[in-house]
Amino acid sequence: MIVYFNGQFSELDDVRVSPFDRGFLYADGIYEVIRTYYGRLFRYADHLERFKASLEAIKINYAETDLLESNIYKLFELNKFENPNISVYIQVTRGVSYPRRHYFPTGNVSPTVFISASTIENDKHVITNGIKAILEEDTRWTRCNIKSISLLPAILANQHAVEEGAGEAIMIRDGYLMEGSHTNFWGVKNGELWTAPLSNLILPGVTRTVIIEVCRKAGIPVIEQAIDKNSLDDFDEFFVTGTTTEVKPVTQIGNKIIGRGKPGELPVKFMKLILNMLKAKPGFKNFT
Ligand code: PLP
Repeated sequence: MIVYFNGQFSELDDVRVSPFDRGFLYADGIYEVIRTYYGRLFRYADHLERFKASLEAIKINYAETDLLESNIYKLFELNKFENPNISVYIQVTRGVSYPRRHYFPTGNVSPTVFISASTIENDKHVITNGIKAILEEDTRWTRCNIKSISLLPAILANQHAVEEGAGEAIMIRDGYLMEGSHTNFWGVKNGELWTAPLSNLILPGVTRTVIIEVCRKAGIPVIEQAIDKNSLDDFDEFFVTGTTTEVKPVTQIGNKIIGRGKPGELPVKFMKLILNMLKAKPGFKNFT
């Protein structure tokens, strides 16, 4: 696997990260995940905007965002991918500095930049089964809009979901379902779509933006209001969304079976609309 690390493309095994990297010591960094459809980055501008917003929020001065897109495509080329569905991981930390101090390094410390890309296997964009989700107290911080690499509460919640045989944990804050551990959360009630409003308490998902756009075009009302955990019975269906998750129906929450325990129609409809809106169409050869 070829990866990008601090300005160089190299074999993964040749990359060395200092234990004094502030990402390693403090999770002092941010990340972004972008995917391709038909070999082209999907909603790159939205991801770039969020990436820049995260950098700015934690005051990392990384000036080379203009080169990001071409570096990503270069990475595809170097890895000779033959599969047009690729997931890209980008991480920027505040860099290497010692002795260990909480405050920002003084002097000229460059951020550490890492990009990897891997193919998304068996990705048919077909929704057959729904997933079970569990409800989990949201123990995350109050700046969830920053795509921070400090993910421990989300990791613990997702691990708990796995232990319960579930595919996602939905985070509950003050009695309201905010979002999944790594997805945005949606409910459908009387033909209206509900999801938590943008705030510092959720990540502004790019897929979330796409779904809202698709709904506007399709005339489906979107209520940007978080769902009360006591009102789940009022909803007809639920689903979660994310870059690699795409649109996934939730057919069970905890012990509660939703509807008839089968995926509703909207997730399939949304996936079709998303695939239809892609500018690049099938016909991809490969990146070499
Ligand atoms: N919410 C959280 C907490 C996430 O970690 C993610 C994705 O990683 C999302 C929502 C979905 O965001 P996107 O659609 O941009 O992938």
